[in-house]
Amino acid sequence: RLEIKNIVKSFGGRRVVDDLSLSVMPGKVTCLLGPSGCGKSSTLRIIAGVEMQDSGTIHVDGALVCDTVFRVPPEARSIGLMFQDFALFPHLSVGENVAFGLRGDKGARERVKELLQKVGMSRYIDDYPHQLSGGEQQRVALARALAPRPRMMLMDEPFSGLDDRLRDDIRDETLEVLKGEGTAVLLVTHEPGEAMRMADEIALMRDGKIVQQGAPYNIYNTPVDLKAAAFFSDIN
Ligand code: ATP
Ligand code: MG
Repeated sequence: RLEIKNIVKSFGGRRVVDDLSLSVMPGKVTCLLGPSGCGKSSTLRIIAGVEMQDSGTIHVDGALVCDTVFRVPPEARSIGLMFQDFALFPHLSVGENVAFGLRGDKGARERVKELLQKVGMSRYIDDYPHQLSGGEQQRVALARALAPRPRMMLMDEPFSGLDDRLRDDIRDETLEVLKGEGTAVLLVTHEPGEAMRMADEIALMRDGKIVQQGAPYNIYNTPVDLKAAAFFSDIN
């Protein structure tokens, strides 16, 4: 369980993340949902450890990951990352891309095969990224992120580069794979429809703060204020 408490981050005197607290349960998909510029990606970067907060703490399963003086380095956080523009390595084959984070661990070959099977990309194992469609690349990126069995996946609008129909398919497949792996997921999106479709839990964000957190239909049916209601009204 990921526990984020009272995170503050300012850029040039402006509070982009403003006393944000949030928890993410293992085996669940939590969506960080909010309009453009509200601080979603900044929050994710702080959790990933590539950006440092001004104050506040992050714990995983009760153990401190970072505060303002102590910091577990990003590569030791057992976190998988998936972004829209988080490209595959062009000079590595599909299989080599997925194996990348495994660094020749015992059982790496089996793990690569297992994951490519799960995302339906087994027969592309020796192909190169430029030979794949956007959706296929996204599937491989999911397999690559999951290969080292991260305790947690951070996904920042990973489906926004895909066309509508493909996006629906990939969302469903991704959910299935993530649930099968039992990974805790924090998924960033600015689309209420995507959050309603994918989330077990929604954290509604505005101006750097979580204004409401709960089950999708609770948030949809009982929005915290008029702004939240309006935000959900243009659902697609
Ligand atoms: P979007 O949905 O458009 O991706 P977001 O919710 O992910 O938006 P962030 O990328 O977290 O928003 O940015 C929040 C605010 O912080 C923006 O106004 C942005 O310009 C500012 N910001 C983010 N990173 C930096 C930085 N490194 N330096 C200065 N300002 C930044
Ligand atoms: Mg963003």
